[in-house]
This record gives sequence, C-alpha cells and structure tokens, in this order.
Amino acid sequence: MTNLNHDKEVTASVHSSKVKATSTEQSLETRIPRIAIVGAGFVGSTTAFALMMSGLAAEIVLVGRNVRRAEGHVNDLRDAEVFSHATRVFVGDFSDCCSADVTIITAGVSQSGQKSRTEGLRETGAIVHGLVNDVCLQNPRGILLIASNPVDVLTYAAWKWSGLPVHRVIGSGTSLDTSRFRRRLAEHYGVASANVHAYVIGEHGDSQIPVLSSARVAGFPLDGFSNELGMSHSESSLARIADQTRTAGVEIIDAKGATYYGIAAALVRIVRAILRDEHTILTVSSRVPESMHLGDVSLSLPSIIDRHGVARVLPVALNNSERVALESSAKAVQTSIGALSEMIPI
Ligand code: NAD
Repeated sequence: MTNLNHDKEVTASVHSSKVKATSTEQSLETRIPRIAIVGAGFVGSTTAFALMMSGLAAEIVLVGRNVRRAEGHVNDLRDAEVFSHATRVFVGDFSDCCSADVTIITAGVSQSGQKSRTEGLRETGAIVHGLVNDVCLQNPRGILLIASNPVDVLTYAAWKWSGLPVHRVIGSGTSLDTSRFRRRLAEHYGVASANVHAYVIGEHGDSQIPVLSSARVAGFPLDGFSNELGMSHSESSLARIADQTRTAGVEIIDAKGATYYGIAAALVRIVRAILRDEHTILTVSSRVPESMHLGDVSLSLPSIIDRHGVARVLPVALNNSERVALESSAKAVQTSIGALSEMIPI
C-alpha cells in the first residue's frame, strides 16, 4: 500500500508561487460546502443538476465561457430547488471559486467533434491550462477534480500546472468505466451491482483494463459464483462484458452525441466521498506512486478518498496479462503526456 502522506504535502516542483492565499479563505472546518463547476456544457450542467439533487452542497457555482448560457442553466436549476434541496446556485467567475471545497473542471471540446486526437489534445490542453491557473490563483486550498478528456493526461498536467499536492488533483478516471463494468457483471449474474466488487483500472480510454481475475461477487471469485448459481463459467461472456465496458462511451456518443448522466453521477460520487470524509475506494486518476513502477504518469487505480482527496492508492491483484496490459496503458498515457508537453510546457 502506498501512503500519500497529507502532512508532507507532496507538491509538484513548479509554479507554487502562482498559488496565493486570498483574504476570503475560511478554514476547511468552518465553511459551508461549496462546489465550483467550470464549464457549463453537457457535463458541467448535468453535474450541477445531479449535485443539486444530492443535497451535498450548500452552494454551487457555475463558471462558463458563455455567461448567458450559464445563467440559463442556473435559472433552470433554481426551478428545481423547491422539489429538491435548498441550494444557492449561481453563475460566478474564478473569484467565486476561492472557497470551493472542490472545483470540477468540465470545460473542453465537444465529444462528438471530428477533430484529430492531436488537435483535440491541443485545444482542451490549452483550455484546461488556462483554467487551472485561474482557479489556483484564487483557491490554493481546495481539491481540483478533472473530468475533461483525455482525463489522465489532463490530471497529470493539472497537477504540474497547479503546483498543488498530488493528493488534491484528482481525475474522474475510470470511476465511470468501473460502474459500467459492475453493472454489466451484475446483469450477467442476476444480482445487484452493489454486490459486485470489480475495478476498471488504467487509462480512461482504449487501453483501460477491466480486471476479471480479482473480481468478486458476494465474496466469490467469478468462476466460484457461477458454480454456486449452477451456471456455466463462460470466459467468452466475460470477455464480451469487458469489451462492452470499453466501448460503452463511444456507443453512447454515436447514438446521442455526448455522454453526461453517468459522468455526472460519478463526479457527484467523488464529491460525496470528499465532503463526507468517507474513506471510500473509487477508481480515480491521480499521479501514480513511484513504488508501483508504472512511470511518471496519472491513471486510475482503486484509491481511498477522504476529506483531503486521495489518501492512498491501492494495488490490485492482477494476473500476468492484466499486469502487462496495465504497463502498456501507462505507456499510452505517458506518450500522450509527452505529446501535450510538446505543445504546452508541463
Ligand atoms: P460541451 O461542448 O457540451 O461543453 C464544454 C463546455 O466547455 C462548453 O460549454 C464551453 O463553452 C466550455 N468551455 C470551453 N472553454 C472554456 C473556458 N475557457 N472557460 C469556461 N468554459 C469553457 O462538452 P461536454 O459534453 O460537456 O464535455 C466536456 C468535457 O468532458 C470534454 O472534454 C469531454 O470529453 C469530457 N467528458 C469526460 C468524461 C469522463 O468520463 N471523464 C465523460 C464525458 C465527457
């Protein structure tokens, strides 16, 4: 197990001078829960709605480039207040992010755009670079939660650009993929997804690894659970579930142009773990501890999430082919980090 000790405040070596305290800061203990959402597109606005329905935040700040559109979302959200939870929802700017417990970055380019991978990386990289600087100038204490894609590359870059301790820069990573995987396994066995313990690790993207070897249902390995149910253990069915998990996002985008309900729920789940100091294990992206020998990279592994962000990154029991796949996933993310750093210094 690798402990990312909060007290040591492991920081990126650069840019710490950019992080300045503001007079409006309050201690983590006394302030009311405020969540800032930067980017008011599909993901940002749906996350605001999911957050409002959750009742977790007293204040939700929406920061959008198109202010009129953001105001439209805010007025629409306020119409839901009487039916949900008293929440102050407002359009803000970066100065309103100053006391946010968590700032969620959802700005980016449309998921259905026809841009090349490099062009998409350059464009979203430039957007997130600017936003991270603006947010961190105002809010040196909160947690940065990155949803913009490619999320692992941008989580790594945001950590470097921000100068924040490693545990306070989190990417939504494969939290969404893990939920897709668990639901499909649950359907396969005819049980509730809450009874399936399984993880998708690595890149949130093509090289992700749905880990079958250590997946458990009600404490049983998958072959053992099949035996209990009197059903045959079908490796090909499980391989199909892993494939469907990997391609689920693309299929939704093909059908409706974007994905946003699942990611919004995943983001709210991560926020809940933080605000309520849950010590919940979620597959989020963060800079991988050196002891895991995966290189200088951010990707998803099961991680304990508490009030301070990522408290620990946990290893996963893998078979040989899964370990090889994880190493190659790390290399794929590293290659993209290299490509981004040639366009925008990291
Ligand atoms: P969208 O086009 O609907 O919204 C993007 C928003 O970002 C737009 O409203 C745009 O105005 C805003 N924006 C751009 N530059 C900005 C800036 N400098 N400041 C403030 N706002 C700015 O796209 P979307 O569907 O909401 O997706 C947003 C991002 O989330 C994309 O990168 C997408 O790939 C990613 N995403 C990630 C996951 C995941 O699992 N991590 C899932 C779905 C989408």
